[in-house]
Amino acid sequence: MPKLLCKCSAVIHYGEIPSPNEWLLFSDSNFDNFSGMVDAEEVYAVSTSFLKCPKCSRLYVFWEGHQSEPQVFAPE
Ligand SMILES: [Zn+2]
Repeated sequence: MPKLLCKCSAVIHYGEIPSPNEWLLFSDSNFDNFSGMVDAEEVYAVSTSFLKCPKCSRLYVFWEGHQSEPQVFAPE
């Protein structure tokens, strides 16, 4: 099962479908390309996946997919 070790030492699991730790985001521009009824798979295809640590709320954004290193955002 895929997992990531957070900087706070929590282990973030994201192999479940759906995963409570994985979120999806997409740009307003990508969203604007859709209208009317849409296929959820098409929306998923233009989405960027990120993980939210359930302990410290850091965000790990996979801008280039899960094969690349995520960019990390920490709450202030
Ligand atoms: Zn954490």
